[in-house]
Order: sequence, then structure tokens, then C-alpha cells
Amino acid sequence: MRIGIDLGGTSVAVGLVDDNYSVLCRTSQRTAGCKDEKELMDRIISCIYDLIKKSGVSTDDIESIGIGCPGSTNVEQGLVVRSGNLPFKNTRVAKILSDEFGKKVYLDNDANCAAWGEYNAGIAKGLDNVVMVTLGTGIGGGIIINGRILHGKENHAGEIGHVVIDINGKRCACGRIGCWETVASTRALIERVRAEAEHVPFSVLGNVISENNGVIDGRSLFIALKRGCKVSKSIFAEYIELLGVGVMNVIEVLRPDMVVFGGGISKEGDTLIAPLRENIGETPTRLEASSLNDNAGIIGAALLHLI
Ligand SMILES: [Zn+2]
Repeated sequence: MRIGIDLGGTSVAVGLVDDNYSVLCRTSQRTAGCKDEKELMDRIISCIYDLIKKSGVSTDDIESIGIGCPGSTNVEQGLVVRSGNLPFKNTRVAKILSDEFGKKVYLDNDANCAAWGEYNAGIAKGLDNVVMVTLGTGIGGGIIINGRILHGKENHAGEIGHVVIDINGKRCACGRIGCWETVASTRALIERVRAEAEHVPFSVLGNVISENNGVIDGRSLFIALKRGCKVSKSIFAEYIELLGVGVMNVIEVLRPDMVVFGGGISKEGDTLIAPLRENIGETPTRLEASSLNDNAGIIGAALLHLI
């Protein structure tokens, strides 16, 4: 058995993965508010101890630990160079965990881990060339070519969310203008829904938002769509077009066997993917929603020893 850790911007999820690549037990803790490197590492370590206790497994039965971290990572040295909102700076994450648990620890970028999970145990099992697109606050990318994770120079390959699709577009968090994630991330979709709901408050979409106490999330649009909302239909059609432009770019450059979509809204399955397939048109590249969902990152991290 192996432990896989999926570290995100606001929480950490830890899972026990068996030899059939299934998650036997998982637990998570919030990491938002951790002030410094030590506090964050202590939180991750306490989450691992929670998992060991909850699962009843002996530490001796754990073969290795893998961790997927957001941001810039150095895979060979097992360190996180920097990591968005997290208080890591050249932090030797793998060494700290290895010293604590006495196990070999593998580390990679979180998007790469999700792709590695789908490739080894999920919807993309058995394929050679796979791109995982994770839709969330931004758009994450993990690329597998000929069965290997494409790390690129300084492990910066796969930043597909920052491919520019509109040079006159919005400013991105990265500083450039018109990156794909400024229009096709879940955050961008939610912003679009908010603007439209303010513009046309007396719509099915407006009702859905009111029923949710004014909160707009990734599901709001899909709930309204299922109720036949015309406003939502037009927002969704525009979103699919913007998502499709970037997906087509990925296909043109890499011609993968499959593009897998992860992140909260990928759970909508064919409601999201079928119109996207239609938008892309005929291509040998399959488009599919993640089959491992929230466990993709955990399983991929636990299987980093296979690289
Ligand atoms: Zn950008």
C-alpha cells in the first residue's frame, strides 16, 4: 500500500492506495490560513497520521509516499520552489516527510499527478498520449507523452491555461493578456454567470441563484440549464466555444489519444463533454471527463514511483 497526497490551495487530501490502484481510505484538512512553511508541513503530517489511524494500517505496510503540489516544483530534489498562495519557498517537502515517516517520498506538480492517476488507473488507462485539463480557479494541465510525464525545462511544461487565445482580452494572474484560463476556467464561467444574472435578474438562472442564497458556483449554470433556461443556454454555448478553442490548440500541438477533463464541473459529464465534442468536430482524439474525480490527484501521487 502507498500513500498519495493531493495538496491544493485551500486544503490537503490524503489517501491510502492499494495494489489495485484503489483508494481504500481518505481524509482531508484545511490548509488555508497556514502562516508559514512549518505550520503547513505540520498540517500535512497530521493529516497523514489521521489517515493511518483511521485506516488502521501499520506504518510498516506503507511502501512509499507521493505528493502532488501546486506551483513550481523540482521533481529530482523533491522540493517546491514556490506555490501560489501557499507559504512554500524552496521547501524540501519530500525530505521533511521522509524524515518524519522513514519512507521514500516522491513529489511532482499537482496537475501532473492528476494526469498520471487517470493514465494509470482511470479513463485514460492503456493509452500512450494523454492530456489532462483541470478546470478550476485556473486551468491546469498535465501532459503524458509515450507513457511519460512531460516535465519540460525546470518542470514548467503543461501550463496550458496560459496559452493566449485573445491578445485583446483580460489580464491574467500571470501578467499576460488573454490567457485561456481568463475565459474558460470555472472562475471565468462563474464571473460570466454573475454578470448575466445581474443584467437579467428575472430569469430561471436568477431563481436558481436566489434559491442558493445568492451564491453562484460551478453548478448554478448547469442546474438552470436542466430547467430549460434560455439565458443559461446562451452563456453555456459561448463557454463551450471558448473552451473548445483551447482544446483544439492542445489537439493541434500534441494530437493526444485523449484529453481528460477534471475539476468540479467535469462531474457534469456528458452535459459538458458532448457539446464540446460537437464543437471540436471530427478528430481521432477522444474527449472524456475524469473517471477518478477527486481521487485522481491522490492516486497519481501514490503511483509516482512508477515514473
Ligand atoms: Zn496567464
